[in-house]
Amino acid sequence: MESLIGLVNKIQRACTSLGDFGDADGKGVGLPTLWESLPSVAVVGGQSSGKSSVLESFVGRDFLPRGSGRKLIALSSWHRDQKAFSATAAQDGRRTTLVRKEIEDETDRVTGKTKQISPHPIHLSIYSPSVVNLTLIDLPGLTKVAVEGQPDSIVQDIENMVHSYVAKPNCIILAISPANQDIATSDAMKLAREVDPTGERTFGVLTKLDLMDKGTNALDVLEGRSFRLQRPWVGVVNRSQADINRNVDMILSRRKEREYFATSPDYSHLASRMGSEYLAALLSKHLESVIKSRIPSITSSINQTIDELEAEMNHIGRPVAVDAGAQLYTILELCRAFDKVFKEHLDGGRPGGDRIYGVFDNQLPAALKKLPFDRYLSLQNVKKVVSEADGYQPHLIAPEQGYRRLIERGLAYFRGPAEASVDAVHFVLKELVRQSIGETQELKRFPTLQSELAAACYEALERFREDSRKTSIRLVDMEASYLTVDFFRKLPLEVERGTGPAGTNPSTNNPPGVTPASNKHPGANSAAATIDRYGDGHFRRIGSNVSAYISMVSETLRNTIPKAAVYCQVREAKRSLLNHFYTKVGKTEVAPLFNSLLDLIFWSLWSRYSCNATCVAQGDHLAKLLDEDPALMERRLQCAKRLELYKSARDDIESVSWSR
Ligand code: GDP
Ligand code: MG
Repeated sequence: MESLIGLVNKIQRACTSLGDFGDADGKGVGLPTLWESLPSVAVVGGQSSGKSSVLESFVGRDFLPRGSGRKLIALSSWHRDQKAFSATAAQDGRRTTLVRKEIEDETDRVTGKTKQISPHPIHLSIYSPSVVNLTLIDLPGLTKVAVEGQPDSIVQDIENMVHSYVAKPNCIILAISPANQDIATSDAMKLAREVDPTGERTFGVLTKLDLMDKGTNALDVLEGRSFRLQRPWVGVVNRSQADINRNVDMILSRRKEREYFATSPDYSHLASRMGSEYLAALLSKHLESVIKSRIPSITSSINQTIDELEAEMNHIGRPVAVDAGAQLYTILELCRAFDKVFKEHLDGGRPGGDRIYGVFDNQLPAALKKLPFDRYLSLQNVKKVVSEADGYQPHLIAPEQGYRRLIERGLAYFRGPAEASVDAVHFVLKELVRQSIGETQELKRFPTLQSELAAACYEALERFREDSRKTSIRLVDMEASYLTVDFFRKLPLEVERGTGPAGTNPSTNNPPGVTPASNKHPGANSAAATIDRYGDGHFRRIGSNVSAYISMVSETLRNTIPKAAVYCQVREAKRSLLNHFYTKVGKTEVAPLFNSLLDLIFWSLWSRYSCNATCVAQGDHLAKLLDEDPALMERRLQCAKRLELYKSARDDIESVSWSR
């Protein structure tokens, strides 16, 4: 059975070294804790009630700092066979002083000499043949007022901390009260009552029996009349301050304690159930039975937690590789993952690509329709432009220059919608990049790479936009640079010959607008009369012809502008969105330029297996790209530690079960 307590001690020590202190301090939020599920014994009591003395007499050593050393100490002690111990026994005097010093140093280290308290226990293992197996936690005494150098909050701090420890159902409470004080005023009993009202896990200990006033005794307490508990009360007599000053050793003081009870007129009938040794044995036995009953549930919770931690570790992902080749490879893999998501958005599968079609199908036609050709081709403006083109000599037949000028100036209006379409496509693409980065699961842990990738993509999209803009403007300019002569050839001649009466053609009666269907052949009515070459009808007809021509061009551009945008922007985004980025990350003296992803992958693989100076120089930059969210790295670290703890605990428990 001894191995059971040894097991708990071992797991508990592993807990403290791997940062599992339960969640007494609110740290490690969300991490499972093994500490919480382990049974332990906490010694509680008011200041100078004799807590440290009780502990020391269990262990047979005086090593605990006295006075304001408020550090929590977890003590594990268990039997070592005599031989193992005697080897170190010679140095024991020095050792205990060293241990005390160490605890004090550790306390200062953790609390920064402020005499504040820390809920993290110091783990101290005592190997000695003179002690039984126990795991004990020396809680700081309950303080009434802060002393010099302590913060005012210390009273509350200590109370909260002690409370959080003993409130756990796995905690066995060793409630220490001095016999020379009224039990009704005992801090220990007050606390025990609060957290363990049925007295199921509280062991009442009465110290300083030897200091009671002559003529009084503690039988009412020890026999359970004053304060009923489910466990028996145990009285002890520890070393007095005088004994401590005289360096009375533990063995001697225990003997004196035994003698005290054996010879006491008040307590001799209870002698077999009194004293530190009996208390230690009682606790040890109780602790063993508690551990034994808890092992199955501890084991199953350990197994479950291991599964959970492993799942979380998988989700977080493995730590980033350290060599440049592997880092580059990782970066490329991540880029590829992003690229895949981005393409799914464009090609379908994920939403968003359809918004580009929306630009071509709605936005562009609507913008074309809104162009102010009605105003531009008003009778007044047509007259004005044509007259200006004529100069001092009005045109004799068809106003060739007037037509050209009207058309050229009119076509310039198309630049606006062309550029607007390019911009609209640009913004859709940009938004898709942003969305894709967010949706690429693998990228989540690398905020730096995310932003660098976004910046590189935006830069590329900007270049594509510029190219697309130039191309679509060029399409418009091309229309203006060479007019479709066929259109004019097909215009009915009679208009110009003056055989068609102005006003009989419906289209010439209406103000010219973009109504291509009805304007295709503005002079179709051949029963025209002679017209006044300089009358309104003449100019209306010119306006109407120009309007029809512009409508035709508008129809063409409505089809060609999307082609330019797709060719320059969408197609390039699919083909070469990350090319510049690849070149940037892969740029070294060894490989000055990477023209394709494939080159880069080869290079990264190659450099992975032949690490050289260039890799190292590059490594820094790559490592920066793979900077992870610090919170995530911390979480991975914490999970890994916890996992290690749980696995070793599982192994330990298994080995004990086997050996039984
Ligand atoms: P703590 O503050 O609760 O840890 O109390 P300590 O163990 O440091 O004890 C405080 C003082 O009481 C020390 O001077 C001890 O020597 C003394 N003391 C503790 N228990 C007894 C006891 O049973 N008898 C006598 N005479 N003195 C005791
Ligand atoms: Mg103490």
